[in-house]
Amino acid sequence: MGAPRTIYIAGAGIAGLTLALALAKFGLHVVVLERNESVSEFGAGLQISANARKVLDNLGLSQAIAEKSFTPEGIDIFPDARAKPLQTLTLGKAIEARFGAPYAVMHRADLLEALHAAARRFANIDIVFSVADFTLESSGDALTVTAQEPDGKTRKAKPFAFVGADGVRSVTRTRDLGGPDAQYSGKVAWRALVPPEALAGVLDLDRTSLFLDPRFHLVAYPLPHRNAVNLALFTQEKERDLSVLDQRTPRIKPGKDNRLARILDSVGKGWAPWVLSSVQTPIWHTGAIGLIGDAAHAMLPFQAQGAAMGIEDAAVLAPLLAASPSAGHAFSRFAALRQERVKRVQDVSASNGKVFHMGFPLAVVRNAVIRSEGPEGHFKRLAWLYGYDAVQSGKS
Ligand SMILES: Cc1cc2nc3c(=O)[nH]c(=O)nc-3n(C[C@H](O)[C@H](O)[C@H](O)COP(=O)(O)OP(=O)(O)OC[C@H]3O[C@@H](n4cnc5c(N)ncnc54)[C@H](O)[C@@H]3O)c2cc1C
Repeated sequence: MGAPRTIYIAGAGIAGLTLALALAKFGLHVVVLERNESVSEFGAGLQISANARKVLDNLGLSQAIAEKSFTPEGIDIFPDARAKPLQTLTLGKAIEARFGAPYAVMHRADLLEALHAAARRFANIDIVFSVADFTLESSGDALTVTAQEPDGKTRKAKPFAFVGADGVRSVTRTRDLGGPDAQYSGKVAWRALVPPEALAGVLDLDRTSLFLDPRFHLVAYPLPHRNAVNLALFTQEKERDLSVLDQRTPRIKPGKDNRLARILDSVGKGWAPWVLSSVQTPIWHTGAIGLIGDAAHAMLPFQAQGAAMGIEDAAVLAPLLAASPSAGHAFSRFAALRQERVKRVQDVSASNGKVFHMGFPLAVVRNAVIRSEGPEGHFKRLAWLYGYDAVQSGKS
């Protein structure tokens, strides 16, 4: 037997670390180049749906995630400042039974830490932090990677493949594959964590709450392991400069809506803005260079599936890189298996962005549909999304 294949990955985010773990399980040698000095603490809550959880469980992370996550009982939907939910979508045990894995919420840093801790246990995963830059020279399937390491040294290697998991502003996509820049959506996410006491009596803290309004939508769920409630408020904004948005808070007036007033008060000036962009490109690979996660297909977070798609990507790509005769062959098969599904999820996410912000009279129709679908309708309609098994798909 020859030396194991070496795969280089740019980015120790959720997609990059999941891929590193999946590849290491096939015995491949993995080098992850990360520009930050550690795994990122940035961000707040994340919903981990059953389709993503199945992949993580298959990588042996079931217990680590169960210890740091919370399974809400349901999702209460409140259109137009209603006091009582128009509908409560069933989560909890029912969803676990339907899709074979829980639908949980957790802090993004806890998921990254679980992935990083698991990766550290593999001798065949090498994570290099504080990488200033990398360059790729490729010709057909031949590839040379040169990376600037933090100690001033230059690392040069000829790996089997290079995977850009370097996020929405991926240089692998724009510089090395000649792909497009991310497109600003006109929407901003305002995120905050507040102590549960601040929202006692305002929100039901054993579940997720979704507020719909023509001016905004708001998602709230508890993160008991952080003793916090995660709030994500989405508004339409012309401004896309984070340094400007950072100087202000969302311009939402609660009017007579006391519950919204309490929620906004609980955060005060503590909102962290994030401009939302998406990536649409058919070019996911050239030769031995490919993309996964947000680098390939960043989407609006209105179906809570961006990270889930990166996790699925990892499960599908790893066996292909392990077994295909060439990296180009693996990436072509990967694109064939993934692009249609990812596009469908991107479209659902973008459509939700419009539906959540509908005003009269369209909101009346929307509300009638939500009511008539019943507590399980959402999950029946999206069984193709949540019931998908990426581990099996990668073996096909
Ligand atoms: C408000 C909000 C809520 C969300 N909620 C959910 C949710 O509930 N569920 C869900 O599934 N998704 C959700 N998402 C989407 C999710 O956050 C992203 O899809 C996911 O984090 C993308 O992971 P990634 O690993 O592809 O990219 P990233 O998380 O962006 O990681 C990229 C990594 O690459 C590194 N990097 C970048 N450039 C370079 C370089 N040149 N060299 C080396 N390293 C580099 C970065 O430092 C980073 O570590 C949400 C997003 C937002 C904004």
